[in-house]
Amino acid sequence: AADGTGSLATTGLTKAFGGVTALDAATVTFRHGLVNALIGPNGSGKTTFFNCVTGMIRPDSGRTSYRGADITRRAPHAIARAGIGRTFQLCRVFPRMSALDNVLAAARPGGLWRGLRGARSRAEVDLARGWLTRLGIEHLADVEARNMSWGQQKLLELAGVLMSGPETVLLDEPAGGVNPALLDRIGSLVRELNAEGRTFVIVEHNMDLVMSISDHVVVFDRGRPIAEGPPSVIRSDERVLGAYLGV
Ligand code: ADP
Repeated sequence: AADGTGSLATTGLTKAFGGVTALDAATVTFRHGLVNALIGPNGSGKTTFFNCVTGMIRPDSGRTSYRGADITRRAPHAIARAGIGRTFQLCRVFPRMSALDNVLAAARPGGLWRGLRGARSRAEVDLARGWLTRLGIEHLADVEARNMSWGQQKLLELAGVLMSGPETVLLDEPAGGVNPALLDRIGSLVRELNAEGRTFVIVEHNMDLVMSISDHVVVFDRGRPIAEGPPSVIRSDERVLGAYLGV
C-alpha cells in the first residue's frame, strides 16, 4: 500500500558525459507502494538516472538510497538483490533461447550458463511458467525469443525481471513500439502487480499510459526534476508544457 515513505531516493545525483551534464544535482524521491512515472523530453536524463540508480554507471557525485540504505556505490547485482529490478528500453532477452529458458536464466544471478546448465528445480520451472501465464505468453514457452513480436519480447523481459521477486520495478519505456492490445495488458498488469505490493518507476513517452496508470509523476528537464505531482496536476502544469515545447 502507499505508505508515503521514501523508497528509492536520490540526493544531488550528478553525471556528466564530457561537456554534457546528463544529471544535474537531481534530488528525487519515489515513494514506496506507488506507481511512479518519470517523464521529460528527450535528453532530459531519464535513462542516465536509471543507469545510475541501478549501478550500471557511476554518478560523479550525489547519493542514492533504497529503503533507507545507501546503495550509491553498489554493483548492479547487489542492487538487484536489494530488491530493485529493471527492464531496458531496447529490451534484453536472449534471442536464440526459448521463452521459458529466458525466464529461467533471468532468475539466476550469475547468468545464462548457470541458468541453462544448473539444476532446475520443479518449483523453479513452475514459477517461470506461472509468470509466462500471468503475462499471457505461456503459449510461447518453447518459442525462441527472436521469433516473438517486439511486444511479446518486452513481456518476456518483464517475466524474467519478476522471476527474481523484486519489490521495486523500473520499467524503461514499456510501451515503446508495442501494439495497442499489448499496451492495455501492460497497463493493467502494472496496476495489478502494484496492488500486490510492488512499487514501480516507469520512464515512458506514451502520455495516455502514464496518465492512466501512475499515482505520482516526476518531470525531468535538463537533468533534474522541474515538477512532480499526481497526473491531474502534471497534465496542466505550465513548466511541464514549457519543457516539452522547449520554451
Ligand atoms: P533521456 O533518457 O531523458 O532521453 P539520457 O539520459 O539518455 O536522456 O541523456 C541525457 C543527456 O546525456 C543527453 O544529452 C545525452 O546525449 C547524454 N548522454 C547520455 N548517455 C551518454 C553517453 N554514454 N555518452 C555521452 N553522452 C551521453
